[in-house]
Amino acid sequence: MMPREPSCEEVMARLFDYLDQELEAPDRAVIEHHLARCHACFGRAEFERRLRARLSEAMDTPAPPRLRRRLERLLDELETANSDGEGDSPWSPS
Ligand SMILES: [Zn+2]
Repeated sequence: MMPREPSCEEVMARLFDYLDQELEAPDRAVIEHHLARCHACFGRAEFERRLRARLSEAMDTPAPPRLRRRLERLLDELETANSDGEGDSPWSPS
């Protein structure tokens, strides 16, 4: 098989696998080769990489209490809405 230049679309389609380090070395080399020469894809890859770094930082930080309370209340409301009219369903823990 001839080594071929991937299109920007192909590179973008595999960008997440690349960032997740889920590509085999030859595939990764193809992406890296393209990123080294394509400014648009490089910029996109850098953006995603930084976004991921931010996200994983945020994951390590516990959610602020206010946000947690909001989420808990939202969940309560959803449960209430769901059990509405099904009060006597067998799995309902009333
Ligand atoms: Zn490109």
